[in-house]
Amino acid sequence: MREQLIRETPAKVYLVLFSLSFLLNIFFFYQHFFSRHLSLRIGSTVSDLSWTRHAAEEAEAVAAISCSSHGRAYVDGVLDNGQPTCQCNTCYTGTDCSVLLSNCSADVESGDPLFLEPYWMQHAAKGAVVLSGWHRMSYATTDGFKSLELEENIRRLHTAVGNAITHGKHLVFGTGSTQLLNALVYALSPENSSSPASVVATIPYYSMYKGQTELFNGRDYEWEGATAKWRNSNKTNFIEFVTSPNNPDCLLYDSVLGGSSVIYDHAYFWPHFTAIPEPADGDVMIFTVSKLSGHAGSRFGWAFIKDENVYNKVSNYLYYNSIGSSQDTQSRLLNYVKVILAEIGSNSDIFEFGFNKMRKRWQRLQALVNSSSRFSLQQLSPQYCIYFKKIRDPSPAYAWLKCENEEDADCAEVLMKGGIISRHGTKFGVSTQYTRLSLLKTEDHFEMLLQKLKPLVAGSDENSSNISSF
Ligand code: PMP
Repeated sequence: MREQLIRETPAKVYLVLFSLSFLLNIFFFYQHFFSRHLSLRIGSTVSDLSWTRHAAEEAEAVAAISCSSHGRAYVDGVLDNGQPTCQCNTCYTGTDCSVLLSNCSADVESGDPLFLEPYWMQHAAKGAVVLSGWHRMSYATTDGFKSLELEENIRRLHTAVGNAITHGKHLVFGTGSTQLLNALVYALSPENSSSPASVVATIPYYSMYKGQTELFNGRDYEWEGATAKWRNSNKTNFIEFVTSPNNPDCLLYDSVLGGSSVIYDHAYFWPHFTAIPEPADGDVMIFTVSKLSGHAGSRFGWAFIKDENVYNKVSNYLYYNSIGSSQDTQSRLLNYVKVILAEIGSNSDIFEFGFNKMRKRWQRLQALVNSSSRFSLQQLSPQYCIYFKKIRDPSPAYAWLKCENEEDADCAEVLMKGGIISRHGTKFGVSTQYTRLSLLKTEDHFEMLLQKLKPLVAGSDENSSNISSF
């Protein structure tokens, strides 16, 4: 028995050792080839980058230049010794924008939507777009001058946000929605009529409507000012601009004259800036990417048009005016619209990001202004929003500021003396008692605004002791 055990033991041990070695061999063989295959795949992805490599490296290198969060370096920025330099926000200077200029004014005049810049910096990979040198060189793309993919994604976005009914409406693209304003005025004007159409808007109105209508000076239309003047007239031939939410007071507006030719300008009808009570369903509706994703520099806007004749006339205008909108811009925007769509409801929802930022700015400004009686702001109330599915606080793009004291008759001038550059009320067709403050710019602009406004608010008033914490 013992002998048998001694005889059998080495055989069993060999068998076990053989099996182990066999298994180990399989393991190492698999490991060797699998990991080699994997590393080859990764290696080949990296080494396959040939013509994009330089551009990608350059883009990342420039983005990594530190401008102390008070500026940005750009691949097409001003060079110093062949290196791109920082372009500093207003009031900052120095090679890395770290020096705060003394006696600098807070420039909150323009509606530059830089408040969304941090969103795209936080989502750098998703926002990056690489285009080849031969990318869409033709005038034409997938549907004449329009990208079909972009059109479909824009329609999807409106459906997902719930801010517009697009079904049964034609879509046109413009070089910014600015290009579409006059295109639509032209298209809605009667041809060969004895009396030209009257282009009107409700005060306070966005000054571009008046400026463009007067500049282009068409035979078939003319600027006729504020709707209030025409409320009780029996004149009919109107083209009414309805800006909703309105620039500058950010209230939701509807047509006052109720005529057939209404251009709804919904530049700010996105959940960053307003509650969406219901989808807009106008026959002519304008939107812009400037206030949706913040890419104002890409110059891209669009309009939905119900009537086929009007659509044809607008298309004709766009053909003669610019032969369509930039293909580079359309390609870049396709990516942004897709990202925005994909992130709806996630932690990276751009509307949630934009809303939180704008609400906070509004609350801080409101608390400061309300701490004295020298100035007042437009009245905005919380409202139910079908996008957020709840009652939400106001988060306007602009503050429409009124100087309440008689001696402050020119409000923009009062602010200017206090170091704030704002947009004069007269530009919006109202008195000098009003001025507009843009809340859309960078954090630096907004903080500078509060800093400069604080002493002005305190200037006149007994409540000045309340404002030390802004
Ligand atoms: N409409 C309104 C009400 C605006 O405020 C603006 C921009 N400030 C525009 C249209 C034009 O926007 P864009 O040309 O950048 O699309």
